[in-house]
Amino acid sequence: VAVKEYDLIVVGSGPGGYVGAIRAAQLGLKTLCIEEGLLGGTCLNVGCIPSKCLLHSSELFYQMKHHAHEHGIQAKEVSFDFKKMMERKDSVIHAFRAGIAGLFKKNKIDLLQGTKAEFEDASTLKVGKALVKGRHILLATGSTVASLPFVTIDEKKVISSTGALSLDQVPESITVIGAGYIGVELGSVYARLGSKVTFVEYFDRVCPGIDPALSKALQKELETQGMSFKLGTKVTGVDASGKACKVAIETSQGEKQELSSSLVLVSVGRKPRVDGLGLEKIGMKLSEQGGVIIDGNFKTSIDHIYAIGDIVDGPMLAHKAEEEGVAAVEVIAGGKPLIDYTVIPSVIYTTPEVACCGLSEAEAKELGLSVITAQFPFKANSRAKAVGADQGFVKLVVESASHIILGAHMIGPQVGELIGELALAIQEKVTASKLAHLCHAHPTLSEAIKEAALQVEKRAIHI
Ligand SMILES: Cc1cc2nc3c(=O)[nH]c(=O)nc-3n(C[C@H](O)[C@H](O)[C@H](O)COP(=O)(O)OP(=O)(O)OC[C@H]3O[C@@H](n4cnc5c(N)ncnc54)[C@H](O)[C@@H]3O)c2cc1C
Repeated sequence: VAVKEYDLIVVGSGPGGYVGAIRAAQLGLKTLCIEEGLLGGTCLNVGCIPSKCLLHSSELFYQMKHHAHEHGIQAKEVSFDFKKMMERKDSVIHAFRAGIAGLFKKNKIDLLQGTKAEFEDASTLKVGKALVKGRHILLATGSTVASLPFVTIDEKKVISSTGALSLDQVPESITVIGAGYIGVELGSVYARLGSKVTFVEYFDRVCPGIDPALSKALQKELETQGMSFKLGTKVTGVDASGKACKVAIETSQGEKQELSSSLVLVSVGRKPRVDGLGLEKIGMKLSEQGGVIIDGNFKTSIDHIYAIGDIVDGPMLAHKAEEEGVAAVEVIAGGKPLIDYTVIPSVIYTTPEVACCGLSEAEAKELGLSVITAQFPFKANSRAKAVGADQGFVKLVVESASHIILGAHMIGPQVGELIGELALAIQEKVTASKLAHLCHAHPTLSEAIKEAALQVEKRAIHI
């Protein structure tokens, strides 16, 4: 059989893989992408996009049902068609999948889809019966759902995020194991649609990775929306054999309890997906967490094989995977990697949203930096008041002496859309007074950022 040869073979078509493949083609590399499943990977098919579709649809319903009257709108008989909500989500995904296929065609990227890639030797991959050879290989196989050792996910009564994105009806009640960002987003969807949602979180706060002040504010807002939290509590068993699911829990004080719900959503994180690639055959080095080890140039322990995205260390985020995909391919084409890992924003798409970038106060202190913080509440922002979404605040972390902005932590309306300005400020080492000097349009939510920057010098106008 003739073995087709490529400059670059990309394994996986998630945001890391497909973006990397397009950049490779732009740089003139003859490129093949191999995708076992669906184009777009986790992000497009069972991650970012479907979750944001359902978050938006459920939020529209929730606003109409609970807040329309505040605007003088009478919407007494608001109801929803769950099947249609899911179909809309599917149609968004289908359109983007077709979009990626179109971009591959336009950029003359070959695609082998539907069969997994497995190493035959360090330069040859077996894809079904076909063999392909790459001068360089980029691994972008992403991640899969993690579970607890004693919990079996059946995607019927004990579901993962994947199952939660394609239920056929709104469950009466859900116990969500893990109040991380995926848990609170999907819990929000179903709580808005009427499910009784209870979170069990091992740590003593919601979304433990974020600034504690944001955690606290987020929990309060989600509780106002009817969700409840068992924090500092671990799950010790799940029994889904009966009609209702039983979840055994134990608080940090050793108090035991049992929760009962129609469904259990396991949302305890994700793990790198390296199974089935035949990495052991080629002697690839893996980390303790099971991911692929890379150097600062995305190179694995094997010279011409690179790896990016969720299978390597770092935050499991689509935009981080994309940046790495581009950077790795630029390295392969002879360039230098250009990623500033200190400014990868993260957003939680609840209501209100949470957006963070750069160092938290605690991280800055751990690094031995002397910092001060300044806060400005959306309550004092005219646009937030005008649209009736004035919860939350902007918090800036700045270096004490220079007032250079090191971190931004926000909870409030559309803060996910506002974080870009602060990411640029952090990347470019902008001072608070420089940011405060920038004329922000009025009335906009972004004025809260200007005011927080002013407040670094205790000169905010509206508080
Ligand atoms: C519910 C949920 C919501 C999320 N929301 C967000 C969000 O709002 N923002 C954000 O930034 N991130 C979000 N994420 C995380 C985001 O989806 C991932 O960080 C991102 O998809 C990682 O991209 P990747 O390219 O590394 O891998 P993936 O997207 O996982 O893609 C890997 C691809 O490789 C393929 N593959 C694996 N092994 C093989 C093989 N042997 N041969 C061929 N193909 C193979 C897989 O089929 C898959 O399509 C979310 C995740 C989930 C689960």
